[in-house]
Amino acid sequence: MESILEGQLYKNTLNLLRKSCEIANVDPNVRERLSKPKRALIVSVPIRLDDYTVKVFHGYRVQHSQTLGPFKGGIRYHQHVNLSEVAGLAMLMTFKNSLLQLPLGGAKGGITVDPTKLSRTELQNLTRRYTSEISNIIGPEIDIPAPDVGTDPQTMAWLMDTYSQEKGHAVLGVVTGKPVEIGGSLGRTGATGLGVVFCTEEILKVNNKTMNGTTVAVQGFGNVGSHAALYAHQRGAKIVAISDIAGGIANPSGLDIPKIIEHYKLKKSFDGLDLPHEKISNDQLLTIKTEVLIPAALDGAITGDNANQIQAKFVIEGANGPVTAEADAILEKKGITVVPDILANGGGVIVSYFEWVQGIASFFWDEEEVNKKLHHQITKAFHRVWEFHKEKQVPMRVAAMCVSAKRLEKAMLLRGLYPR
Ligand code: GLU
Repeated sequence: MESILEGQLYKNTLNLLRKSCEIANVDPNVRERLSKPKRALIVSVPIRLDDYTVKVFHGYRVQHSQTLGPFKGGIRYHQHVNLSEVAGLAMLMTFKNSLLQLPLGGAKGGITVDPTKLSRTELQNLTRRYTSEISNIIGPEIDIPAPDVGTDPQTMAWLMDTYSQEKGHAVLGVVTGKPVEIGGSLGRTGATGLGVVFCTEEILKVNNKTMNGTTVAVQGFGNVGSHAALYAHQRGAKIVAISDIAGGIANPSGLDIPKIIEHYKLKKSFDGLDLPHEKISNDQLLTIKTEVLIPAALDGAITGDNANQIQAKFVIEGANGPVTAEADAILEKKGITVVPDILANGGGVIVSYFEWVQGIASFFWDEEEVNKKLHHQITKAFHRVWEFHKEKQVPMRVAAMCVSAKRLEKAMLLRGLYPR
């Protein structure tokens, strides 16, 4: 277990937990139990590459807590994935699911791999072998994976198929974020981005502002960033800058997001875009003049080095852990409000929960119903956090953690410790 504690994300989350438990007066025995994951599995994932050589990748699944229900959380494919990072993200899932009042625990998985370097066949082999290696600890009532950085509905389809082949029948509830054709939920793909936008609307509302005409910059043009930019644009916001891993583009009068998405789908890049814009770097995007900044790429984007230059008034965390603890302190001093990850990007797991429920019931809802229920669930959570933040005069990140830890505390004390 010791190596789990080494990474920065895990350490930061643990510190936040300690601070929040003190403020919210959480039972020290509960805090002790929440400080470590329940289980961590490391697997070798050998696959045959297209050139017929065999390569062994490292895979992980960390199950942090199942106090509130089955373990739940995504699977990440990225070259920097390691055990401690996965464990930190699993812990964040526990607090996210508790805060959002879902009957789910927290988990995360991942493979240390750059998915852009593998062919479709290699990715399929990797996903199927990884699924098989972790299949005895996942299942609709045990642990339900979903997409995360570097994985998508196709990855989830392979996972569902591999698990179902082993069981001998189709098991819809083993994974969420599946394509709609095989039991996915309408609205799941855009759900995280839509949740980010609902949270942005709420934070503007409590500050007597509206989305109409508000300037927004989005870092990251993957599933979360591109949908957040689109939904904010549709609600009248002016998207002044966007970026992907290669860099960004800006236009102070606003970018035409639907056209850019069309172009990006084909070219996988902003290059060759026939619209007025200026090229900027990823660093420039973060410090650009804008009212709202949405970091929706990886963790550790806003650090002690660049926090002082941030000009936005509101930072809405589309990614998990994009603002480091050091940066958090600087932003607070500057009077910048951070809407934390476990709230702001909760739309994904909320609709994952809806997908799981629909799969088990074999009864599927239309998109309007999904989005209406998502709005209800995430704005309720927003206001629970906002009230706590106002009452106790603590940053929203601490408030979110306090509200979440309190719910977990109640459940843990009711269930008790086995054997005693
Ligand atoms: N990976 C997403 C997250 O970090 C979604 C998890 C899920 O849907 O289970 O929240």
